Amino acid sequence: QIKREGKNGFRFYDPDLNAHYRERIALEDDLRGALARNEFSLHYQPQISMDSGKLVGVEALLRWQHPTHGLVGPAAFIQVAEEVGLIRDISHWVVDTATRQLARWHARGHQALRMSINLSSHDFDRDDTIDQVADCVLRCGLAHDRFEVEITERVMMRDTDEVIARIRRLRDCGVGISIDDFGTGYSALAYLQKFPVSSLKIDRSFVDNLNGEGTQPIISAITGIARGFGLHLVAEGVERQEQAQRLQDMGCDIMQGYLFSKAVTAGELDRWLEAPPQHIEAERAPRPQ
Ligand code: C2E
Ligand code: MG
Ligand code: MG
Ligand code: MG
Repeated sequence: QIKREGKNGFRFYDPDLNAHYRERIALEDDLRGALARNEFSLHYQPQISMDSGKLVGVEALLRWQHPTHGLVGPAAFIQVAEEVGLIRDISHWVVDTATRQLARWHARGHQALRMSINLSSHDFDRDDTIDQVADCVLRCGLAHDRFEVEITERVMMRDTDEVIARIRRLRDCGVGISIDDFGTGYSALAYLQKFPVSSLKIDRSFVDNLNGEGTQPIISAITGIARGFGLHLVAEGVERQEQAQRLQDMGCDIMQGYLFSKAVTAGELDRWLEAPPQHIEAERAPRPQ
């Protein structure tokens, strides 16, 4: 049984380290065959503009249909994939699948729809994943700034000429650069001057704790930075109507979270694009006092 909790995918509560070790080996083995067995899929989580009530974008999130464990989320396996050198192939699959899917939605008339994917900091160690993003965006004819790559501040902190060049290369191809979990890493804000960033994502930990001490000044600072630099701003992990309302009042328009929808299959998003679900308007409208 794979334990899905915790950022590293495992919880070290098992007193039997041997069992833990065997579990890890089994996971590695399963992961090695997963691409060939076609067990990965992308689910797409809607992002809603509070101003218009419209679906403006989706974040592509990786899922693994494990033969015995069922649908497994990335927290359980991404780090292992990085450690055993499988992330490169997985990222390639994600880039290919996501760009094709976005092109399909654009071809069906939803040309304004934006999509982001998550890349690993390892993907910035080499040129090939970056080259592949550029190739796919070009081959699919995706319009400027519709496709975006989410990276964490960890990547920015590496700050080598190679990493900067790779990020610039993406930006030059019209690919957006989004900072995921913004404000939770070692933010040295100077990187915003050096890297061609186009979006910030307010981390769920801030949204979760809107009334906590110090949260509001942080969110105000983030919205100020986004406005000052002319960046898109997305709040993630929005679960309650009052959070959406407060975030909107604080200057954040685009919301992603279970209040509106979890990540859904491409087929479910097809239906959403044909006929937006009724509940969106209700969640957007402020509740009567
Ligand atoms: P992330 O990029 O910060 O993605 C947001 C995570 O929050 C997703 O978890 C999403 O399902 C979850 N989420 C969204 N709304 C809510 C909400 O209202 N409440 C709560 N409690 N959770 C919400 P998920 O899909 O399990 O992904 C976890 C992380 O795995 C992602 O965090 C991202 O860092 C990584 N990841 C996902 N897909 C990929 C991928 O294709 N490649 C790589 N390298 N990493 C990925
Ligand atoms: Mg993300
Ligand atoms: Mg995030
Ligand atoms: Mg997050």
